[in-house]
Amino acid sequence: MEQIKFFSGEQIPLEMHKVKIVQKINLLPVEQRKAAMEEAGNNTFLLQNRDVYLDMLTDSGVNAMSDRQQAAMLIADDSYAGSETFTRMANKLREVFGMDYFLPVHQGRAAENVIGQTFVEPGAIIPMNYHFTTTKAHITINGGLVEEIITDEGLKVTSDHPFKGNMDLDKLNGLIDKHGADKIAFVRMEAGTNLIGGQPFSLENLRDIREICDKHGLMLVLDASLLSDNLYFIKEREACCRDMSIREITLELSGLCDIIYFSARKLGCARGGGICVKEEAVFNKMRELIPLYEGFLTYGGMSVREMEAITIGMDEAMDEEIICQGPKFISFMVDELVKRGIPVVTPAGGLGCHVNAMEFLDHIPQNQYPAGALATALYIASGVRGMERGTMSEQRNPDGSEEISNMELLRLAVPRRVFTLSQIKYVIDRLEWLYENRNLVEGLTFVEEPKTLRFFFGRLEPVSPWQEKLVEKFRKDFGDSL
Ligand SMILES: *Cc1c(COP(=O)(O)O)cnc(C)c1O
Repeated sequence: MEQIKFFSGEQIPLEMHKVKIVQKINLLPVEQRKAAMEEAGNNTFLLQNRDVYLDMLTDSGVNAMSDRQQAAMLIADDSYAGSETFTRMANKLREVFGMDYFLPVHQGRAAENVIGQTFVEPGAIIPMNYHFTTTKAHITINGGLVEEIITDEGLKVTSDHPFKGNMDLDKLNGLIDKHGADKIAFVRMEAGTNLIGGQPFSLENLRDIREICDKHGLMLVLDASLLSDNLYFIKEREACCRDMSIREITLELSGLCDIIYFSARKLGCARGGGICVKEEAVFNKMRELIPLYEGFLTYGGMSVREMEAITIGMDEAMDEEIICQGPKFISFMVDELVKRGIPVVTPAGGLGCHVNAMEFLDHIPQNQYPAGALATALYIASGVRGMERGTMSEQRNPDGSEEISNMELLRLAVPRRVFTLSQIKYVIDRLEWLYENRNLVEGLTFVEEPKTLRFFFGRLEPVSPWQEKLVEKFRKDFGDSL
C-alpha cells in the first residue's frame, strides 16, 4: 500500500481503523512507579497491570479484536462434536493456506508438543532459521537437537538487510551432508523470527529451502505465528511480490510447506492455535494426540467463541490495510529513535522495537543485566513496561557461572491495533530523556534467583541507590509532571 502523503511533508503512519471500545489506563507519579518497581522485585513480569501505563511486554493474546471478530463470537456454535464453528474455522484455513487438513490446539506451544512428539526422535536434528523458547523446549524434551542456521546478517544488531530472518542455504546443505537426511526430522522456518527482533524471511529463501528439502525428501514446517508481519514485509521489500496480493503471497508460501502451525494469540488476534497439514498421511500421524492433550478434534482446547474470532482474524490477516498497522508503527518508532541516536535493532521488524541495551548502557557489565536495568529505568521514567531479552533471560551454567547472552535487548512490543501514535511518541520522548541521563542508570543483582525460568519469577535489587537519583533528576527536569 502507498504511504499516505501529508501536506506538511511529515511521514507518519495513519490508522485505518477507529476505536470503538476503550480501556482506561493509569499513569502513576514517578515516585509511585519507583515504589511499584521495588515491590515487583525489579522484574517487569511481576508488575501489576494497574500500575502500568503502556504494556509493551508482549504481543501475545493482547492484540485488539475487531468489531467483526466480536460480532462473530456471538454466533459460536457450542457443540462438542460436529460444531459449525469448527467447520467455519477449518474452511477458512483451507481457503487461506490451501491445505486440506487441520488440527485445532489451544495455543502455539501445544502445536509444538504434537509435532515434537510425532516427528522428533532422540538424536534427531532440526535445522531452523532461529528458535523460539517453547519450540526449543519441545524439541529438546523429545531428545532432538536444534540447529540454528540463520544468515550471519540475522545476528547483527544494526543492518539494512531486508530479510534478516533468512536461512543460510550453505549451512543447511552442510548439515544434511554431515548428518545425512535420515537424521533430520524436518526443516523448520519461523515467520517473523520472534527472538531476533521480528525479522522476516523472503519468499525466495523459502523456495530455495523447498528445493533442498525435495532433493533429500525432507518435510518443511512453518511456524506461522508471526506470519502477518512477514507477509507485509515480503510485499513491501521483495520485488517479485510487489504486484501480488497478500492472499496470493500466502498461497505461494503455504504451497511450499508440508505443515503450517501457529499461535492464534498472534496470528488471528484471538486465543488458540492450529496445525494445517498438506497430506493425509502426515495428518493421521498427529491426529490421535489432539484428543489426548487438547480436546476433541473439533475444538482442541479452544473456546468456540475464540474460534469464531480466529476465523475472522484470519481473513483480516489477509488485508494489507490491517496487517500494515503494527509494522508501520514500529518502523515509525525505530526511525525516530535512530534519529535521536538511540541504539535499536535495525531494520525495523514486526512484533516490537528492540532497544540495544548493550550500547545504551555500555557501562554496565552483562552480569549486572543491562537490559533488565534498562527495563526498570524505563518503567520508572514512563510507566511503560518492556521485557528483558538478554543475560537475565538465560539460565546459569551447571557450574553456577552466568551464561552471557550475545545480545542485550529491551523489547518494547507493539500489540496490534492497541496503541495510538501519541502514546508511541510518549515512549520515544521518555527513552530520549533516559538516554540523556543514561549515566545515572546502574545494574541489578538477584536477591531471589529460581534455577529455571528465573526471568519470570526472579527478584532483583539495584546495585546502588541509582533509582532514587533517577527519580530526583526526573523531578528536576519535568517539575510536577507525571
Ligand atoms: C508465541 C509464539 C509461539 C508460542 O505460542 P503460544 O500461543 O504462546 O504458545 C511459537 N512460536 C512463535 C514464533 C511465537 O511467537
